[in-house]
Amino acid sequence: MAQRLEGKTIVITGASSGIGRSTAKEFAKTSPKNLKLIVTARRIDALKKLAEEIKTEVGEGVKVLPVKLDVSKPDEVRGFVDGLPEEFREIDVLVNNAGLVKGVAQAPDIAPEDIDTMFATNVTGLINMTQEVLKIYKKRPDGGKGDIINIGSIAGHQGYPGGSIYCATKAAVKIFTDALRRELIATRIRVIGVDPGQVETEFSVVRFYGDKAKADAVYANCEPLTPEDIAELIVFAAGRRENVVLAESLIFPNHQA
Ligand code: NDP
Repeated sequence: MAQRLEGKTIVITGASSGIGRSTAKEFAKTSPKNLKLIVTARRIDALKKLAEEIKTEVGEGVKVLPVKLDVSKPDEVRGFVDGLPEEFREIDVLVNNAGLVKGVAQAPDIAPEDIDTMFATNVTGLINMTQEVLKIYKKRPDGGKGDIINIGSIAGHQGYPGGSIYCATKAAVKIFTDALRRELIATRIRVIGVDPGQVETEFSVVRFYGDKAKADAVYANCEPLTPEDIAELIVFAAGRRENVVLAESLIFPNHQA
């Protein structure tokens, strides 16, 4: 697998914490020679810390570029590739991981700004990033080459009370991923979907606007997955031989309903 990843340039959105952060580390650990990682999110300090940690853990064979990027702002996403140093522009893998849930409430009570934030980040942000990176992929021979890995959720397959808007955003990610894969079927571009169940990250703290006690209560009856569990699957998918696509993978804690 390391051989197949060697020499690749990989972009990860939402790399400042949780699954995105672990995914950056997993790519670096799996392929510590001649790899370029572009780690993006809004919290640039966390990204710089991640870059330092990777350098300490695997050495200079992995070049890490921290880039401040808010995927919910189309103006920041458009021109993202052109704004990169030239040696980082030939992207091979995009991990569309940035996402959030704001609030747990019945549909009529969800604040309009929370609805907008969830769709702008989870859906429009993911689509805009995909379009931006596809411009690079499509320039390559045979209709194009590269990987798009979209992080959806079990919430895109089944709804839960209090999560209607988040579930709707993840259902949009699921069907976008499926349609895009079919659109690009004649190319060498792979479109991969990874849909986790419960994973213990900052996700739940964000969901409850920073209320840690409420966030911890979510995991009271179910031992969640770790972000590393998801990172391993993402790196596995990227490291398959070219003809193999993990089109849609659900990954849960064993006892999650
Ligand atoms: P975290 O809260 O730990 O990570 C979310 C990441 O997204 C952070 O790095 C955050 O960075 C980034 N982010 C949020 N908004 C934006 C934005 N507008 N622009 C750029 N980056 C943004 O949660 P997870 O690691 O759990 O979440 C990662 C993905 O996994 C999400 O798409 C989530 O929906 C999905 N998921 C999570 C599950 C879970 O149980 N944890 C289950 C199923 C799916 P910053 O704040 O610095 O911008």
